[in-house]
Amino acid sequence: DRNPDLDPAAPEEPFEYSLRPQRLPEYIGQEKVKARLEIALRAAKGRREVLDHVLLFGPPGLGKTTLAHVLANEMGVPCKVIQAPALEKKGDLAAILTNLEDGEFLFIDEIHRLAAPIEEMLYSAMEDRKLDILIGQGPSAQTLKVDLRPFTLVGATTRAGLISKPLHDRFGMVHRLDYYTRAELAVIAARSAQLLGVHMAPEGAEAIARRSRGTPRIVNRLLRRCRDYAEVKGDGTITAEAADACLALHEVDHLGLEGLDRAYLEALCVKFRGGPVGVRTLAAALGESDGGALEDLVEPYLMQIGFLDRTQQGRKATEAAYGYLGLQPGPQGLF
Ligand code: ATP
Repeated sequence: DRNPDLDPAAPEEPFEYSLRPQRLPEYIGQEKVKARLEIALRAAKGRREVLDHVLLFGPPGLGKTTLAHVLANEMGVPCKVIQAPALEKKGDLAAILTNLEDGEFLFIDEIHRLAAPIEEMLYSAMEDRKLDILIGQGPSAQTLKVDLRPFTLVGATTRAGLISKPLHDRFGMVHRLDYYTRAELAVIAARSAQLLGVHMAPEGAEAIARRSRGTPRIVNRLLRRCRDYAEVKGDGTITAEAADACLALHEVDHLGLEGLDRAYLEALCVKFRGGPVGVRTLAAALGESDGGALEDLVEPYLMQIGFLDRTQQGRKATEAAYGYLGLQPGPQGLF
């Protein structure tokens, strides 16, 4: 079973809302993306126009939803949030688009999962701010053209490759969010601790940052676990010792890897002798229905820490992966 604290795709909890940065300077890391967006924001505000449509992609929990809210706050407009699979009929999207206020943001999460007819409806909405609504059925059906108020669409997806070209091309800006560095994660931990009124030593922040898989959402979850531990077992201060002991208790290893990550590495290194092997084959060996969860939740971080190479031929383990498992690289060392 996945540890929900380490699962960046687990549903957001109320305490996480309170930790969300509101304005761009509070949004830590992602410096290049921030610099580009800052210029776009200023230019749009200077011209009194709406911000261009923005596509954000990157692994879950890196702050796509947060960034959409931050951008809307910077433009001084509200932001409506919707999950793509919740849009079932064209009418669902039409109702949302026609009710948007002037300049409002619409954030569509998992935008790669839009049904094809709904995605097509979005094209003219994004491009010309027009909707074609079909009224009636059969020969008497009529198309009604509806003008929309100016709006900014922010789309989020875990992988840019999942977006169709016509949709991709309608975004004025495409930004990729990267995993955060340990230093950035430690700053996020310290910021969140301050907001929660928790005392934390800098080494405590570093201990949490090290195990957070480059992901702010995991920082906040582990921080909460450590706060409980420090209050119950110590004097309430999250020291390095308290953080280490707490996270050991929750079986979060020193790199933030957990059951499925280890099972993946073992399958790759032992069963498939280091690869190359296709992701579907790996998924089948691990009892996962398809490779999607592995591609979204397991592989990006393993690549980030240098344990995995994705090649044309398939997935390959690196020497570091063998080292982590305490094995010798190469098939000869294993059998
Ligand atoms: P998903 O793709 O699953 O929707 P997400 O990428 O949209 O995830 P968010 O919900 O925006 O992730 O962020 C998760 C949490 O991490 C938020 O509660 C927020 O407090 C924190 N967070 C995200 N990015 C940052 C950041 N740059 N600085 C500080 N905190 C951040």
